[in-house]
Amino acid sequence: MRVIATPSRTKEILEKYDLYAKKNYGQNFLIEPGIVSKIAASAMASDNCVAIEIGPGIGALTQQLSLVAKKVIAFEIDERLPEVLKDTLSDCENVEIILQDFMEADLNEVVEPYGKQGYDVVIAANLPYYITTPILFKIFESDAPIKQITVMMQKEVADRFTAESNTKDYNALSVITQYRCSVKNVMKVPKNVFHPKPNVDSAVLQFLFKEKDKTINEALFFKVVKSCFRQRRKTILNNLSLCVPEKTIAKDLLEKAGIEETRRAETLSMEEFIRLYRVVENENISICED
Ligand code: SAM
Repeated sequence: MRVIATPSRTKEILEKYDLYAKKNYGQNFLIEPGIVSKIAASAMASDNCVAIEIGPGIGALTQQLSLVAKKVIAFEIDERLPEVLKDTLSDCENVEIILQDFMEADLNEVVEPYGKQGYDVVIAANLPYYITTPILFKIFESDAPIKQITVMMQKEVADRFTAESNTKDYNALSVITQYRCSVKNVMKVPKNVFHPKPNVDSAVLQFLFKEKDKTINEALFFKVVKSCFRQRRKTILNNLSLCVPEKTIAKDLLEKAGIEETRRAETLSMEEFIRLYRVVENENISICED
């Protein structure tokens, strides 16, 4: 087996197929084998995993996943690549490539049969940076039985997913993510392990799903959180007032939740957001969309 994730092999593949990295698809290929095998190893929740990969590119991570997973299902949007992958992954019999925009995929339909057969389904990717958050939210919002997600992303975006309250990076994304998952920092990744080299460093994060709280209507909870963060410099009262019919209603909700109206959303803990959500739900107040 010839390792794909090296500078020389990547160059050879790109030249052979007259390929260039497409910026609009966020193509930055990994060229450091140690990092790729570490991502593949940490992506496995057990020795009985089926891995879903988003964006196999020329196969750098796919190849290493195929060594540790029972099966790899990889979604690729770039129609130039299935032909290349057929060649570069010719030794990897347990890999299935699906030429499709992951955002259009029916994740449940793909995952469910493997879950039913007793496999641990995991997601692994070096994510296309232009679409990191929508991809993760698609997974968070699906009901597919996924064990964990291990993905590379821009360091600045990773910082928002892991941010704690009272820090500059803490926002609605941090709260919603940490409500659904516990988030672990796997490693920081310097920009020189990619071809082409991006402008910023990256990080690999792992998301482990928490047990769902069936008493919480997630769609409403997420709306409440987003409404609190509407404008960062505003107080929670001013932000919430923009999303409920009247300011007096916002005042009343905050008072009942025991949250001072002069605070800003970034100072609230998860428990406080949940408390506010419960008051909104009990009082049957409608919160406007963004
Ligand atoms: N996994 C490869 C690696 O690590 O070298 C490539 C990673 S590259 C950062 C992102 C990959 O995602 C590219 O192959 C790109 O074509 C693919 N991609 C971009 N948008 C996509 C989408 N919406 N659905 C599926 N694949 C996508």
